[in-house]
Amino acid sequence: MPPVTTERGADRHGSDAVSVAHGPSPRLDLATSAVFFDVDGTLLDLKPHPDDVVSDDALRQLLVTIQRRNHGAVALVSGRGIADLDRIFFPLVLPAAGLHGADMRFPDGTRIGARAEIMDHARPDVGRFVAEHPGLMLEDKGATLAVHFRARPDLAADVLRFMTRFGPGDEIAVQEGKFVVELKPVSFDKGTAIAAMLRHAPFLGRQPVFYGDDLTDEAGFSFVNSVGGLSVRIGSPDVPTLARMNIPDPAALRAHLAEITRAAAGHQELP
Ligand SMILES: [Mg+2]
Repeated sequence: MPPVTTERGADRHGSDAVSVAHGPSPRLDLATSAVFFDVDGTLLDLKPHPDDVVSDDALRQLLVTIQRRNHGAVALVSGRGIADLDRIFFPLVLPAAGLHGADMRFPDGTRIGARAEIMDHARPDVGRFVAEHPGLMLEDKGATLAVHFRARPDLAADVLRFMTRFGPGDEIAVQEGKFVVELKPVSFDKGTAIAAMLRHAPFLGRQPVFYGDDLTDEAGFSFVNSVGGLSVRIGSPDVPTLARMNIPDPAALRAHLAEITRAAAGHQELP
C-alpha cells in the first residue's frame, strides 16, 4: 500500500487548510526535478544527541537511486555543517547546503560560505550562558551557534530570550527549531540555499522539490512555492506551514521515495 501524503489547500498559512489524503504526488516527475532534502527529522529520525544520527545503507542507496533517475540533482539542505553531513552519509558525498545555507558545496566541489568570525562577538556570552545552565548543550558550528535544550525543555523560553539579544540585526538572525535555538548569519536561509544550488548544473532548469520538517525549512518551502516547485513537510499535518504537501514521518517519506523511484524505473533505462 502506498504511503499516504496529504495535500494542503491554497491557504499557505492555514493549519485548517488540510484537504484530501492521497498517494504519491502526481506532480513529482523525478526526471525533471531537482530534489532537496533536510536531514534531521526529514530523512532520519531525531536523536537525543546530534552526533548519534547516522544514515543506514538503505537510505544511502535510495539517495543514489534518485540521483541516477535525475542526473545527480539531489542535495542536502541542513542546519548541520557540511563535514557533519559527510559523516552521516559516509561514503556518499552529496552537493550540500550546510548551516542553514551559510555554507554551500556545489556539485563541482566549490565551497562558498560565511566565516566563523561573524559569531565572534556572540560566542563568549553564549558559552557562558550554556555553562551556567546544566543540561543545555552548545553546538559551535563556526558561522552558526546552536543552543540545544532537549534535556531542559523547561528552559525553552529562557534560551530564546537570551538568544534574541543577538538578533535579528544587521548580521545575525535567530533561528528556532525543535529543542534548539540558533544564531545564524542574517543573509542566508534555506531558500537562498536552494536558489543558489539551482544556478548550478545539474540542478539548473529543474523544478525544485524540497522536503523539510522544521521552522528553518519554511524559508525553503516559501522559495520553492514561489518558483512553481513542490514543498513537502514531514510531520503532523496540524502544524501551520507554507508547505503544500504533508508526509507524517521519515519512514513514510522513505517509503514514498521508494515508490516514486520504482514508478520512474518503469519509464527509464538505468545505466
Ligand atoms: Mg530537520
